[in-house]
Formats: sequence, structure tokens, C-alpha cells
Amino acid sequence: MRVSRLMLVTLRDDPAEAEIPSHKLLLRAGYIRRVGSGIYAYLPLLWRVLQKISAIVREELNATGALETLLPQLQPAELWQRSGRWAGYTAGEGIMFHLEDRQGRELGLGPTHEEVITALAGDLLRSYRQLPVNLYQIQTKFRDEIRPRFGLMRGREFIMKDAYSFHADEACLRRTYAAMDQAYRRIFSRCGLRAVAVEADSGAIGGSASQEFMVTADAGEDLILASGDGTYAANQERAVSLAPEALPLAGGARQGGAGEPLDTPGASSIEQLSAAHGIDPTQVVKVLLLLARFEDGCQQPLLVSLRGDQQLNEVKLANAVTARCGAEHGTLLELGPLTPEAAGREGISDLPFGYLGPQLADAALAGARSWQQRFLRLADATAAELEAFVCGANARDRHLVGASWGVLCGAPEALDLRAAQPGDRCVHDAAQRLGASRGIEVGHIFQLGRKYSAALEATFTTEAGQEEPLWMGCYGIGVSRLAQAAVEQHHDANGICWPTAIAPYEVIVVVANAAEPAQLQLAEQLYGELQAAGVDVLFDDRAERAGVKFKDADLLGIPWRVVVGRGAAEGQVELVQRSVGERQDVPVAELQALLMERLAAERRGLLAA
Ligand code: ATP
Ligand code: MG
Repeated sequence: MRVSRLMLVTLRDDPAEAEIPSHKLLLRAGYIRRVGSGIYAYLPLLWRVLQKISAIVREELNATGALETLLPQLQPAELWQRSGRWAGYTAGEGIMFHLEDRQGRELGLGPTHEEVITALAGDLLRSYRQLPVNLYQIQTKFRDEIRPRFGLMRGREFIMKDAYSFHADEACLRRTYAAMDQAYRRIFSRCGLRAVAVEADSGAIGGSASQEFMVTADAGEDLILASGDGTYAANQERAVSLAPEALPLAGGARQGGAGEPLDTPGASSIEQLSAAHGIDPTQVVKVLLLLARFEDGCQQPLLVSLRGDQQLNEVKLANAVTARCGAEHGTLLELGPLTPEAAGREGISDLPFGYLGPQLADAALAGARSWQQRFLRLADATAAELEAFVCGANARDRHLVGASWGVLCGAPEALDLRAAQPGDRCVHDAAQRLGASRGIEVGHIFQLGRKYSAALEATFTTEAGQEEPLWMGCYGIGVSRLAQAAVEQHHDANGICWPTAIAPYEVIVVVANAAEPAQLQLAEQLYGELQAAGVDVLFDDRAERAGVKFKDADLLGIPWRVVVGRGAAEGQVELVQRSVGERQDVPVAELQALLMERLAAERRGLLAA
């Protein structure tokens, strides 16, 4: 390809719309253009990158025996109603774009394809003899993200590879899950990415075990917590750890465990309480009020107790709330703080915010207009395990010191609702500490079990002649996100440094002075020869100054640059390796052999196992 025909427009300055390096570079180097919020055009250069990633994905998945398919993006609401996910995906914080057709039928634009594929599997897979099957597609997905940002990282329209496997039993599902795990590692490695596998929350997809693949990068949206010994790594959404030991409360339980009132004027936060009264945060039970809204309209106030030094993990809380209320009230649509303003709107004006204690009676909710008039009470283990503690007295400017659960309000069930933190001791070995790094989630694999097949009645006949729901797994890779993640991991001050296996072109031939016939002629010749040798080669034939073309070549990030300049007359060119900036003069006669040797190794993938 000739750069003069590429409609290449590069930008010298960082575009205002971009915050992170990879987003800035993809815009500046002419790989993408923003069309709307979270909507991008993949320009020809990026499309080549996406094609190369897709080819690696196809090769590795085909090698596992998976079959490529293509499913519709327009999906009937009825399928999603049968799986029970329509409300969760369209109401509240739901992310499915949905519409009505001219006949008044409701449709969704596919954010994911469990429903469609399960319905098909139920239709086509009748007997254990047909199993296992693993189907995948590479396709545009639509998600009305709450905060689209960082370019291709979190788009509202993006390219995903999604795969779905069907099995006669759980053991077979586990084998395919393990094979997909291995295929994913090869895919990311061949794409030149340093990626780590971490335990993950299964989110709205559901199911049991799940694992995410994270490309480590400072700009990553996810926090990874991992032990130094390499045996444990998890997304913070899911991570478990041992909390620091609590400091015993001097004097223990007071007034038989009812607690002794302490005037604490103005001390409505843990910091103020400890500063003014010498109370350690680990001696405090802090109470958070939240409100959960469900599919059936139920609005449930939550009273959540945590130890004063701990932070709430909202993902764990949402899972605990769903486990308790999901069967009765349907999908959890929203979970957020219960604010004084919201309480006021309900006609509840005397909640003692800042001085709340776990003994707050349900009577506090009396008169609520649309909320349930009873709290759902949940306690993290760090709070539940305190024998004597400090807590709010449920009266302004007052706390209780030396309270104990049994006397105050009954012992709660000890749950895991706290956010594990960097520096925490590990559960598998208390001598190990959790370290933190940031990651970009490029893949996620799930053992779904029979959640969807049971809901959509996708059954098969077992060897024993029984009708049973299919066992399922599902496996995603964010193809367009992966392309940008590669830039995030591979760039320098001058631009992108693509790993060769996914670079849009492997070599760029730059003619330093296109007005010089000897240079132009040699450059044309090399361009033709390299093309004929099967190299993906770009030819910067523009009549620009050499400096401009070199800058653009660095920005574009093509792994190898061949400069045809003054040495052309003597049959010499300069070869530059983009990633390390290394240059060497090479006789024209040796160029092709040298390049072919380097490319042969690099095409297989930088980090190939
Ligand atoms: P996230 O936690 O980042 O929102 P997710 O858990 O919703 O992602 P999955 O449903 O597991 O994502 O989708 C599979 C893969 O698709 C993800 O691992 C990610 O790489 C990619 N992906 C998900 N959402 C987006 C998006 N809005 N833009 C680009 N890629 C995405
Ligand atoms: Mg995920």
C-alpha cells in the first residue's frame, strides 16, 4: 500500500477527547475517528490490525475444534424474557439498546448471545452423541455503557469474539474450559501481550467459576490483587484476603453489652471519632444505608455493617442481596447509597446519619411511601466478629462504647462484603501479602453450568435416556479493546510500537527524497520485491520532507522501517527497528534475506510459548 493513497491524516497534538496514551496515539496516527459517544470508525490501518488479531483468534480456536458461526444482532425480547434477563438489561442500569419494530415487537441489539445460542442449541442438540460442541463468532456488540470512555476500551459498539460450549456433563465442561484457558493464553501471547489470568466475578452473565485475562497497564480500569508467590490473583471485585487484626477495645463490653453512651459532638465520621476520642477504626462498627431496587418494583433499604477501617465491595454486596431477594423480587436493577434527600422524599426525616448503629430499629422506616418498611440487615465478618465495639447510638452526637452484638441486636451472619486491599494478608498463606497492579480486561471465560439451558429448556437425552438441561460454558475476547490494549503496552514518546504479529504492516519503505530519481526508483523496486516476497509492506511515497515522514513512521509504529536515502546510489539503505530504535546500514542485496529472517520469528508472536 502507498501512503499517498491511504487518506492518512496524522495529528501532531494530543486530541482533547483522549485521556490515555493508547487512545491519543490511535487518534493521532489515523487509526480511528470518533463518530459519537463510544462510537468509532475503524480506519483502514486499524481494520488491518483487527483482521490480524481475528486471524490469530480463529487459528487458535479452530485448533481446539471450535466452529465459527455468525448469529443475529437483532434479538427478540421474548428470548431474553425467557432467560429472565430482559428487565435487568433494559431497565435501571441495563446496557442493552432496545427498540420496537413496525409491528410493535420488542427487540434488543445484542450485547451478548447466551439467549440466542441456547435457544438454537435446544433446537439442534438432541442427544449426548452430538456433544460436546463449541461455537464462536467474531462480531460487533452493542452496549449502552454508562460511562463510555478511553476510545475502544469501553465503546458502545465494539468487536467481540464470543464462544459458547455445550456438554453432557460438568466434567466435559471443565475440560473445554481448561482448553479455552490455554487457547486464550496462546492468543494473547501471540498478539504480543503480557496478560495475566485472574479470578473474576461472574456479573450479570452468571454461572459459577469465571476467570478474566488482564493486560497489565497503568491505564487499566481494573485493580488486580495478587500474592507475591504467584499462586493467587483476582480482580478486586472478587478478591478475598485476611483483614488486619482488630485492636481489642479497652474495658471490653460495658453495661452488659448494651454499651455506654459517649457524647461525640460533630464526630460523624470514623476519622473524627478516632481523632477526638482515641478510638481505633478497627474497634468501630460502621453502618451504611443503601437502597436496592428490583425488577418487580420492590425498593429494599439495606443496613450494612462493616468494621470501621474497612471499605464496602459493592459487587460482593450486590451478589449477597441477589442471593437473598432475587427469587422473590427478580433482578437487582440498582444499588446505591440511601441518601438523606431520598429519605426525605419518602417522608422519613429522622434517620440519624453519621451516628447510625446496627441496632437501628425497623421503626425508623415507618411511614415510608414506596420502600419496604424493614431493613435487610447484612454484616461483614470483620464487624460480625467484634466482641465489644463502638457504634453510633442512633442519636445525634452520640455513640455507644463497649456494645456487643448479642445484647444490642442479635448476632448477624458473617458475610464477606469488604473490599480486599493491597497489603492485606492472603487467605491461602497469611505470610503472603496482596500486591496491586492495574489491568485491562481483554478476555473472560465462564463455566455457566445450566442456568441458561434450564431457563430456555435446552435439553438433551443422556446415555441413560434421561432429558436433562445442557451444561454450558461461554468465552469472550474484546477484539477491538485488545487492539488498543496492545498500544497501551507497546508505545513510546514518539508513537506506537506494534508487535509484528498484529501490526497493520510489517515494513514501511520510506523514500527520503521522492524528487531524487535514484532514490525513488530504488524504493519502488524494494517495495515491489518485498510485496512479492509476501511481506505486508507500506511505501511512503509522499513528496513530504524526510523528517515529516520519519515522524509519521514512528507514530504509526510499523515494526521495520527501510529508509532509501543518499546511500541509494551506492546500493545502501538504512534499516530501523521501531521498538528499540536500532539502525543499521544494509546493502540492498542483503535486505530481503535479513528482513525475512527477522519477520519469520516475529510473525509467530513475540511471546510465543
Ligand atoms: P467490563 O467488566 O470491562 O465491563 P464485561 O465484564 O462486561 O466487561 P464481558 O461481558 O465479559 O465483559 O465481555 C467479554 C469481553 O468483551 C470483555 O472481556 C472485554 O474485553 C470486552 N468488552 C466488554 N465490554 C466492552 C466495551 N464496552 N468496549 C469494548 N470491549 C468490551
Ligand atoms: Mg467481564
